[in-house]
Amino acid sequence: MARIVMKFGGTSMAGTERIRRVARIVQRQQAAGHEVAVVVSAMSGETDRLVNFCREADPLYDPAEYDVVVAAGEQVTSGLLAMHLQAIGAKARSWLGWQLPVQTDDAHAKARIEGIDSDALLASMAAGEIAVIPGFQGLTADNRITTLGRGGSDTSAVAVAAAIGADRCDIYTDVDGVYTTDPRIVAKARKLKYVTYEEMLELASVGSKVLQTRSVSLAMKEKVRVQVLSSFIDDDAPAADTIPGTMIVSDEELEGIDMERQLITGIAADKNEAKITLTRIADRPGAVAQIFGPLAAANINVDMIIQNIAKDKGETDVTFTVPGADLARTQALLESQKEAIGYYRMISDGKVAKISVVGVGMKSHAGVAATMFRSLADRGINIQAISTSEIKVSVLIDADETELAVRVLHSAYELDASDEAA
Ligand code: ADP
Ligand code: ASP
Ligand code: MG
Repeated sequence: MARIVMKFGGTSMAGTERIRRVARIVQRQQAAGHEVAVVVSAMSGETDRLVNFCREADPLYDPAEYDVVVAAGEQVTSGLLAMHLQAIGAKARSWLGWQLPVQTDDAHAKARIEGIDSDALLASMAAGEIAVIPGFQGLTADNRITTLGRGGSDTSAVAVAAAIGADRCDIYTDVDGVYTTDPRIVAKARKLKYVTYEEMLELASVGSKVLQTRSVSLAMKEKVRVQVLSSFIDDDAPAADTIPGTMIVSDEELEGIDMERQLITGIAADKNEAKITLTRIADRPGAVAQIFGPLAAANINVDMIIQNIAKDKGETDVTFTVPGADLARTQALLESQKEAIGYYRMISDGKVAKISVVGVGMKSHAGVAATMFRSLADRGINIQAISTSEIKVSVLIDADETELAVRVLHSAYELDASDEAA
């Protein structure tokens, strides 16, 4: 007997027929003798719909009330899945985020899980009941509803797996694994049998939304065994432990499996960033701190930052990116700090995309960035900003060129599947 957490994403939960299919996949795991907890997302499109209502109410909405609204999507699907399981004869019940509870900090709209009370959950599972848990939801110490950031159900699943000491956390989604890039953009993307936590963490953090970044760091920290696989499988498909999805493994495990490491693991694109430029800032100590201090205090994550060297008059321009969802809040904040920062103009651009090349092999190979810049230049794609880490190079480009850039880079690093394999 194993204890398993199964997570189903939005596309897998979109409508009666799909939830019915999920119920059958879950019941089969239980019938195989396992204790099962299921974590579910809202139906696909539902969270976007709820977010839009908040924006319509007030572009600078109160994040605490935003959480009350957007957490609702998962309440619906968890209740429905419990019903579908009961309808096919399984014992099941839902456990909402506040009921467990899933304790989080109070960073609304991007809360971090601090702990999950698992006693009642484990007792119910031991009694043969399938636990259905809405992903994405949490509760602050003073009993306010929180959500874990977009894509947060992955993190809920890994956190539940860690809390109940699960043997496996299976992430069922609408693709059958992690690919060298989004298979919806590049048809020749190749499925990776294994990917290390470190590579997956980097891929996720630069926009491969197949797993939320925090779910990967949590899995790495808590040593949760995570597998990504498709929920669109036939009723007579093999059991999940034999389905070829993608397994997230440690560096040491991969060494044992795969001696021929690829230089580049994958390419990711992220259109959810916005670029802001503040012009003619005084070139003096403390000027940059004056900009980013208030943003940090408001919980706004800044990603890429460029400061030009002052040409003359002791003034300089500063360009940086923030999550698109935080653009309105960032603009309002910087507007209110205009005097204190002392900039001349604020220029914003929401039509940008960050394209990143990720690979552990970069640590020991030169020339990865040069290949990237050359390949993009050959296609006339202009680079607006660059950032690098030990295993990643990212560039900011015009959002309209996203698909082209990803395809060009996928070929440039020879990641395309051969025709027979594709
Ligand atoms: P879910 O609703 O199941 O959480 P998501 O939409 O959040 O699903 O994530 C799955 C999607 O991630 C896929 O449909 C695919 O378009 C996208 N994706 C982006 N990068 C990759 C990648 N490298 N490998 C697989 N899928 C990717
Ligand atoms: N429903 C939430 C979202 O769309 C959480 C998730 O699906 O992971 O972001
Ligand atoms: Mg997701």
